[in-house]
Amino acid sequence: MSDPHELKVLNPATEQVVATVPAADAADVDAAVVRATRARTAWAALPPADRARLLRRFADTVDAHVEELALLEVREAGHTLGNARWEAGNARDLLLYAAGGAERLLGRQIPVPGGWDVTFHEPLGVVGVIAPWNFPMPIAAWGSFPALAAGNAVVLKPAETTPLTALRLAELALEAGLPEHLFQVLPGYGDIAGRALVDHPDVAKIVFTGATRTGREVMERCARQVKPVTLELGGKSPNIVFADADLKAALDPFSFLDNAGQDCCARTRILVQEPLFEEARAFLADALAAVVVGDPADEKTQMGPLISRRQLDRVRSYVPEDAQALSGAAPDGPGFWFPPTVLTGERPDSPAAREEIFGPVAVLLPFTDEADAIRLANDTPYGLSGSLWTRDIGRALRVSQAVRAGNLSVNSHSSVRYWTPFGGFKQSGLGRELGPDALTAFTETKNVFISTEGPAQ
Ligand code: NAD
Repeated sequence: MSDPHELKVLNPATEQVVATVPAADAADVDAAVVRATRARTAWAALPPADRARLLRRFADTVDAHVEELALLEVREAGHTLGNARWEAGNARDLLLYAAGGAERLLGRQIPVPGGWDVTFHEPLGVVGVIAPWNFPMPIAAWGSFPALAAGNAVVLKPAETTPLTALRLAELALEAGLPEHLFQVLPGYGDIAGRALVDHPDVAKIVFTGATRTGREVMERCARQVKPVTLELGGKSPNIVFADADLKAALDPFSFLDNAGQDCCARTRILVQEPLFEEARAFLADALAAVVVGDPADEKTQMGPLISRRQLDRVRSYVPEDAQALSGAAPDGPGFWFPPTVLTGERPDSPAAREEIFGPVAVLLPFTDEADAIRLANDTPYGLSGSLWTRDIGRALRVSQAVRAGNLSVNSHSSVRYWTPFGGFKQSGLGRELGPDALTAFTETKNVFISTEGPAQ
């Protein structure tokens, strides 16, 4: 039984305790929201150019600490060093992008009879952000920084297992000169601090990233107060490989192994057109065997451990001893290690083919033609991401339109860029983060009509 007053942060590669952090309770959440409410009034009143200037300074401060933040992410989350550097850089870049948005939060002037009509984007107030452990820094940033840029205060609750980079970001914000209490980080348990944040009447919006099951509860609780909510939830994304594709690029194993598969956009359903199936199987067998799994702090490592014993048990439950599978190697000894794996004997409706495993495990499934590929791609409750590979431009366009998912890549495995909107269809979520409209998701639109008729005589 864990102590409800503290969080023990483990290094997932060694199982050693990295830090012990106090866990917030409902009273701590309440006090943080009171402080945030005070801070946000002065922040919203600042000229946008001043807010932008401070956020750029925050970006510069993050930039000066990229290596330190990356090393912290390696230790608390087991991410490879290369990935962790990218993640800290992503937080910095998003700050710069959002800072520009503060100065361009444009309303509209709408032609109407009898006067002028203008709209304003007003900040919501205090925004609650609840982040998961799989990309602790970027996901905290995606929820928090556009909200700050739009003139809100943020109370961020990181995941139980990964509070350290978020806490450091909050310190860097203060160092950069952001007002006190504007960006507060409250580590804590989901069912205590998370729920208290969701239920708090003075929290104007919740941005939640995590499991679909938890997101459903968050949405129900928000509904009681008619509180807006953005949900970024699970995924089970397809990688559709047509017979005319560049097979080597299409079957890049890091499309599902990046971050040890703990990626909501991981392409874990590899759908390959029948004539290529055997070639794909042989290619993946070699590719998995070549993946370097080990100490995430080593520059040469390509894949680290899973986040926790719980996650390791969950992933194992999908890969029984007698499963038909291709697999690579993983270290023995302490740490939460699981080898890169592709299941080759699954039916499209088996749990491993339909449920989000959130580990380095994909399924390989054949399809016959374009219609069959689309049917299989859409045959899941999720709709977050996906890739499709073909040299036929017409087919690429038809399939991109037919696949019900928020983020697709054609002849590429990229999915998240801070310049473009990110979010899911179906049970993968609600609302969008990032992209040119990121700030407006943290505002209310106010419409003002100004009569030009003059007072009635
Ligand atoms: P989780 O839902 O258990 O936890 C996510 C966060 O919610 C944590 O901070 C947790 O403390 C908090 N929480 C838990 N119960 C809560 C409650 N009742 N009320 C309020 N907050 C609560 O998920 P996880 O295991 O941390 O993350 C893995 C899941 O996140 C996967 O399903 C993955 O696909 C999803 N995910 C989605 C995206 C996306 O952008 N779509 C990104 C990353 C992760």
